[in-house]
Amino acid sequence: MFSLKNTGIDMPPNRKKENLPQKDCLHCGRPFSWRKKWEKCWEEVKYCGERCRRQARSGRKKQ
Ligand SMILES: [Zn+2]
Repeated sequence: MFSLKNTGIDMPPNRKKENLPQKDCLHCGRPFSWRKKWEKCWEEVKYCGERCRRQARSGRKKQ
């Protein structure tokens, strides 16, 4: 195992990305992180962005 104490690569102390909740987009399946604009509707957010939401609605079986 490596010691990550002094690398500063993985997790800079100034950023708290790790504390943000994450979800998997229902459309593209990619994980996305909490954003400020979702602070009041995070539980309802199912897609990583407007694109995926629209695409998921308009054509699910498109391939
Ligand atoms: Zn997506």
